[in-house]
Amino acid sequence: MSRFAYVNGQFVRHGEAAVHIEDRGYQLADGVYEVWAVFDGKLVDAEGHFARLWRSLDELRIAHPMSEAALTLVLREAVRRNKVREGLVYLQVTRGVARRDHAFPNPAVPPSVVITAKSIDRAATNAKAEKGGSVISVPENRWGRCDIKSIGLLPNALAKQAARERGAVEAWFVDDMGLVTEGASSNAWIVDAEGTLRTRDTNANILRGVTRSTLLEVIREAGLPISEKPFTIAEAQAAKEAFITGAGSLVTPIVQVDGVKLGDGQAGPVAMKLRRAYIARAREKAV
Ligand code: PLP
Repeated sequence: MSRFAYVNGQFVRHGEAAVHIEDRGYQLADGVYEVWAVFDGKLVDAEGHFARLWRSLDELRIAHPMSEAALTLVLREAVRRNKVREGLVYLQVTRGVARRDHAFPNPAVPPSVVITAKSIDRAATNAKAEKGGSVISVPENRWGRCDIKSIGLLPNALAKQAARERGAVEAWFVDDMGLVTEGASSNAWIVDAEGTLRTRDTNANILRGVTRSTLLEVIREAGLPISEKPFTIAEAQAAKEAFITGAGSLVTPIVQVDGVKLGDGQAGPVAMKLRRAYIARAREKAV
């Protein structure tokens, strides 16, 4: 099937889509991104992802390329042209094209915008989630502004590769206090030995996951015990359950941490229940 990408105002064939070699995203990772899950051809957690996009851009003083209403139309058009019913839509905004210089271009240049959309086999990912995956730990080595969804992802890419080489689905960064911050592309959660759901608080140096926020609402509505208190790898290994959240992973059970099986090594009942509850809510509220 032909795929189409949006590049700076136009839809072009995916295979021919290109940006200039002096784009500051390419040269300096000077840009941000967002990823929306797509359910039934609609954007999931749309508001939360837009809010984080504007914040990421503002923190880096990159101009908003268009209004939220206009961007919504273009994202939907990317989904429509690529015939995505279940999948992901990716947006990248960089500071634009300018002669290479670390400091910002003066006068400013228009930001560059790239959007792609792809389909996901939801039945296959659901089946995978039911089996659960493993995680490995890696030392936290990222910059101090992980709250910004920057395209500078080299530590995340290296961590994910280390995970893949060890048959794991995710790598969890561990800070110098021995506490898990988050995954290379997801937030980290456990159901601790007391049965309390735990995930790192967002004052820490982590991305404020949109899936994490929606799931917190689901958990509060369900009246389950929750604590935004960090945990160690040893606590995760002694936990009843673990899982990760993100626009890609949704809610995916973790059954092994650094080679140690959690409980009976099966996807946990709480994680599976939360996965179903999250998907049902996201599907209902998708726009
Ligand atoms: N943490 C990191 C480092 C990520 O890259 C991501 C998603 O890409 C997440 C957390 C989860 O964020 P969200 O739920 O908004 O997709």
